[in-house]
Amino acid sequence: MNDTSSHEFDVIVIGAGPGGYTAAFRAADLGLKTALVERYPTLGGVCLNVGCIPSKALLHTAAVIDEAAAMAAHGVKFGDPEIDIDSLRAHKEGVVEKLTGGLAGMARQRGVEVIQGTAAFTGVNELEVSTGDGSRSFSFTNAIIAVGSRSIELPNMPWGDPRLMDSTAALEIRDVPGRLLVVGGGIIGLEMACIYDALGSEVTVVELTPGLMPGTDADLVKPLERRIKKRYQAIHLETRVTGIGADDDALVANFEGKHEGTERFDRVLVAVGRTPNGNRINAAAVGVDVDDRGFIRVDEQMRTSVPNIFAIGDVVGQPMLAHKATHEGKVAAEVCAGEKSAFDARVIPSVAYTDPEIAWVGMTEEQARAENVDYGIGKFPWAASGRALGNGRTEGFTKLLFDNASKRIIGAGIVGPQAGDLIAECALAIEMGAEAEDISLTVHPHPTLSETVAMAAEVFEGTVTDLYIPRKGK
Ligand code: FAD
Ligand code: NAD
Repeated sequence: MNDTSSHEFDVIVIGAGPGGYTAAFRAADLGLKTALVERYPTLGGVCLNVGCIPSKALLHTAAVIDEAAAMAAHGVKFGDPEIDIDSLRAHKEGVVEKLTGGLAGMARQRGVEVIQGTAAFTGVNELEVSTGDGSRSFSFTNAIIAVGSRSIELPNMPWGDPRLMDSTAALEIRDVPGRLLVVGGGIIGLEMACIYDALGSEVTVVELTPGLMPGTDADLVKPLERRIKKRYQAIHLETRVTGIGADDDALVANFEGKHEGTERFDRVLVAVGRTPNGNRINAAAVGVDVDDRGFIRVDEQMRTSVPNIFAIGDVVGQPMLAHKATHEGKVAAEVCAGEKSAFDARVIPSVAYTDPEIAWVGMTEEQARAENVDYGIGKFPWAASGRALGNGRTEGFTKLLFDNASKRIIGAGIVGPQAGDLIAECALAIEMGAEAEDISLTVHPHPTLSETVAMAAEVFEGTVTDLYIPRKGK
């Protein structure tokens, strides 16, 4: 049990993920006496321990393996990779330890009191933290709930069998299975498929809906789909896994829908979404409005239905992304300190760190059509980018959506290597209310992939010179 000099705090934050640690650090920086309660021994939550960070470390390895192989077309041949799975795992764990250790150090420097244990509300100014040694009560002026989310477990599956994995187990990289089934063609499923494919597994993806990554414009997903169709064993769309059986040699998956039947796999990863932890902290009992699924309702100041209790991150709703959680965490801490903050981001970018990467922000084309928005498009194919040609990666494109009346940018989608880095400029443009001209007249460095953003704006304006687009009537 941690030694606590006093049991009273200005702010207690529950959960030390990206939302929670950001909120606690900001509150402490604003002079509030702050505690951060976390059930696990390390700070950082899902993102740092079993999410964004380990997955991106492994995706980098996958990208280098694939790029080395692709160099054959450039006249440089490498041998087949020799994978030392223990060293690979140790590298990934080293990255996580460095970051989580850094957080613990920064908590100490700021005087944030870290309390290890599982918190539950006992009143509107009081909570109890259970540890292995018993439980202790703490009182607070304000509390910030940042308890995140967990993987959805499908029924009719042998949970407990180590061959059946959620994302946390898949990120452990215990070994490289021969045949891997990925249930769910969303972001987690496709990122993990990318890792295991590069390491040498034979991957099958099963997705319930008619397209991979539902909700993302189909044209953005196409280049990824084309690449993985060639590499993976199979991609079954409009197919549901109704159950999984287990025998000594394999997991046996049952398919229903467009693809029917039974197939055997060495490992199965289930990645069919995440569910919030809002109904596991006794919040509803003290008056916090928690819906049936466990999402907590908040206003733009991140305040729940109880005025001194705030909530942030995955537990308050979609999109379940680390950068949304951190921004909300800052708002909640600032409001606790009496500042007039509110979460009023116009847009939150999304990135799938697959190969190629897919990134989008603001309005999608599908959404614009559904809402009858009068929009125009500027689309620049990377086949016309000297940098993409040099990289041997011309399958991508940059697409910007503009409001036809105001010429302001309302959305963007990019597919290709580094799309995730490129989308940040589009997010800034939308936040600043940039018009097409603001983007096209901003001088971008040559030769970079970032030029494709300016050139997409030029396509919309009709001023592009790096492509030939016949004018109407000519
Ligand atoms: P979490 O990170 O879930 O943290 C909540 C914390 O609260 C946990 O540490 C938990 O132990 C603790 N807790 C829960 N209940 C209690 C309690 N009662 N008492 C004490 N502590 C408690 N997002 C991105 O933006 N980019 C990515 O690349 C990305 N990749 C991902 C990859 C994977 C495999 C996964 C699973 C997720 C990924 N995400 C990514 C999503 C991202 O991890 C989450 O959106 C983010 O972690 C949410 O932050 P949070 O602070 O709301 O909660
Ligand atoms: P998801 O909602 O993105 O995808 C789940 C997919 O599974 C959907 O396409 C769904 O149609 C499908 N599905 C559901 N039931 C099925 C069934 N029985 N059989 C086959 N398919 C089925 O969820 P996820 O991939 O688990 O990721 C969860 C969340 O984590 C994401 O929404 C995102 O917020 C976050 N995340 C973000 C990143 C990133 O930003 N790069 C990476 C990983 C995770």
